[in-house]
Amino acid sequence: MSQIGCHGSVWTGVFDPESFRRSVAATVEAGYDLIEIPLLDPYSFDATAGRKAVDEYGIAINASLGLDDSTDISSDDPDAVKAGEALLNRAVDVLDELGGQWLVGVVYGALKKHMRPATASGRRNGQEVLRRVSDRAQAAGVKVGLEVVNRYETNILNTSKQAVAYVTELAHPNVYVHLDTYHMNIEESDMMNPVLDAGDRLGYVHIGESHRGYLGSGSVDFDTLFRSLKRIGYDGPITFESFSSAVVDEKLSYMLGVWRNLWDDSSDLAAHANDFIRNKIRAVDTISLH
Ligand code: MN
Repeated sequence: MSQIGCHGSVWTGVFDPESFRRSVAATVEAGYDLIEIPLLDPYSFDATAGRKAVDEYGIAINASLGLDDSTDISSDDPDAVKAGEALLNRAVDVLDELGGQWLVGVVYGALKKHMRPATASGRRNGQEVLRRVSDRAQAAGVKVGLEVVNRYETNILNTSKQAVAYVTELAHPNVYVHLDTYHMNIEESDMMNPVLDAGDRLGYVHIGESHRGYLGSGSVDFDTLFRSLKRIGYDGPITFESFSSAVVDEKLSYMLGVWRNLWDDSSDLAAHANDFIRNKIRAVDTISLH
């Protein structure tokens, strides 16, 4: 059965021990099984304090991040490739300390609007790094998910098919496709084919609305998405992601273009999303009875 998760940016833009602890408590209070934290700077995260909060509340934890120009493992700049590998290794180590299960996101390159296509040599650099990082992650019991995002946030993986091809080239048993409905809604033909295309390589799912606000208030076809997940027997994590200018992480919010206030009340938003997701799953579960 899928664990249902909430992204930490629903609660806070900073992840010092006290804010992290409050986020964990609020995530549990809203009914979730799992918290996903942004780990763009894994060097600054206090994993020892984090582990105490995770254990106290009995919640599962995963992390997501996007690389930047200075850590772009899919670039032709050897210093950036090296710095990116070090950052990913640190993220794996933090997850290991936290007892986390997944490292996901744009871990394969810089999360930004690229002004030219990725190069073949850059792509090879990224895959070489990902093989080593995925070995380290596997040893720590951490799986790696490559998030497919829209054209304004990467020039490498914009569709599920591209991600399947990339993961097939990588040929690493610990690396999976990570789909996000917000990005699918921009780039894919519909909410069914990308899920079927990924099939058993689909390891992680982000649930986000077309404007990243309240689920059900935008144009994402969630009914088809959840039927498709059911169809392939998906049982990996499903994490709710939402951003508003009410909660600002200067690096992440600005990179994602979060300029508008779509909600003020984090607790109401999170409880609503938890119900929304669980209700959809409950409904599609009954299809097998028909
Ligand atoms: Mn996402």
